[in-house]
Amino acid sequence: MSTVDAEVRAFTARKFEAPAKFIEFCQLGGAPLRGYIGGKYVAGTMNTTFQTIDPGSLEVLATVCEMGAAEVDAAVTEAYRAYHGSQGKGWKTWPVEDRCRLVMRFVELCERDRDVLLACEIFDGGKVSELAEGDFDQIRATAEYFCQVAKSAEMGDGEALGISSSLKGFTYREPWGVVAGIIPWNYPVVLNSWFIFPALLAGNCILLKPAEDTPLSSLYMAKLAEEAGFPAGVFNVLPGRGEITGQCIAEHPGVRFIAFTGSPEIGQSIMRTCDRHGTRMKREMGGNGAAIVLDDVDPEAVARQIGRYTNQHFGQTCCTIHRVFVDKKIADEFIDSQRAFFENLQIGYQADAGTQLGAVVNSTQHRRVLQAQQETARRGGQIVLSGGPAEVADKEGYYIKPALYKTQPGIDCNPHEVFHAFATICPVQSVAEAVELANRTPYGLGASVWTKDIERGINLAKQLRDGTVQVNCHNSIAYGLPYGGQGISGGPGGGVNCEETFYDYTQVKAVYVADYPS
Ligand code: ADP
Repeated sequence: MSTVDAEVRAFTARKFEAPAKFIEFCQLGGAPLRGYIGGKYVAGTMNTTFQTIDPGSLEVLATVCEMGAAEVDAAVTEAYRAYHGSQGKGWKTWPVEDRCRLVMRFVELCERDRDVLLACEIFDGGKVSELAEGDFDQIRATAEYFCQVAKSAEMGDGEALGISSSLKGFTYREPWGVVAGIIPWNYPVVLNSWFIFPALLAGNCILLKPAEDTPLSSLYMAKLAEEAGFPAGVFNVLPGRGEITGQCIAEHPGVRFIAFTGSPEIGQSIMRTCDRHGTRMKREMGGNGAAIVLDDVDPEAVARQIGRYTNQHFGQTCCTIHRVFVDKKIADEFIDSQRAFFENLQIGYQADAGTQLGAVVNSTQHRRVLQAQQETARRGGQIVLSGGPAEVADKEGYYIKPALYKTQPGIDCNPHEVFHAFATICPVQSVAEAVELANRTPYGLGASVWTKDIERGINLAKQLRDGTVQVNCHNSIAYGLPYGGQGISGGPGGGVNCEETFYDYTQVKAVYVADYPS
């Protein structure tokens, strides 16, 4: 988390070369990469493969086998078997210290192969190194935090309640058993960690379903989980399309709990599917974040900071800023500074030094963003920067120029999440008007207030209807505080990265015990 600083710049790439180990892993001697189920590498019965590409060059990185209904079923069976184990010695019964030791061994292997996981994030995910490196650090941070939570968590029998002279009751808390994580393409390493560690440390066996655009880090993590020594079936990875592999996971009644991150449409549809057979869920489903800029700030410094967040992973960050409400007294200066920041972003290939705005992840996103830019202008957004396709020398890729619009209260030109360096800026008469407009969205993931008056900022931030509200910062993450959404951005279940997250991966029963009738 950084504070307001006039020197702030966009996330920037250093030159990054693919390490030999990454190339070898992707090529696998000419064979497609397989799923990982019950400790074995599985090609699947569908005989279907898909290619994962580098969005900045359109180069094929690897061919991957798709997992279908039979593989999902096998993974559930293997995970269930590993959970219970033979002679009652399953993952469920492992002492928490032993689970922590194994998880930290896995983290050490991730750190040994840091360059490979960075390559996954940079080439498969299209991310610049500055961001990918920060993402990588979340592996250890998440694991350490949840080890600490797991060690102090209250599992098993709760305190007994004397109900009557012959009847007592108590709670019994245990893991769900088999749980799945359905992961999107924008932050694979981070979101894998946010799922894997609390789920495993609570005692569950996992099915990890990476996005079809970015399967490589999950598949590499399967290799590291095997090397770390997770018992077969504890850690399963199922690559494939959402409508095939993801859908089969949602439809399987043996999956007791799903952690989903992705779009509201898919999250809502999975929830309906899960509800048919009682699978529980927690969801994070995007946002259309607001920043409110008060008249006491340095407009140039705040514009730069907001620009950095808006362009974090080229705007493909769920909680980031895409709507700005700025006091009209400083609006012109703010808009000029914001335009300068976006105009100066260096568009380029994500692994070349100096790149700040790389390609979006796939052709669908490319089309969606370009359409959204046109739609914003059509709905009355006054163009400050017009966006449109961008060219990068010697690279075929999904490149787009940044877009900025000036708008006014009452013009609804930015209703949906647009995953790019894209923002609307609305001059406002008062902070009350800004709060009202910022809250006028069905989303509610992240919002911020920018002011030198911290007390006032806190009071205003609390009025924003978002899971994370911030003063003079945005896209903030800390272990111990929940990261989750209000409105269509999230729920049910608590946010991630807090104690409640750990308990989301558990269930509670009531146990009643009466004296034997005499
Ligand atoms: P985005 O819009 O960010 O691509 P999606 O919601 O489409 O997000 O995808 C997020 C994750 O959900 C991905 O792993 C994707 O494969 C998966 N997914 C997509 N459709 C379905 C579905 N019908 N059932 C289960 N998972 C799905």
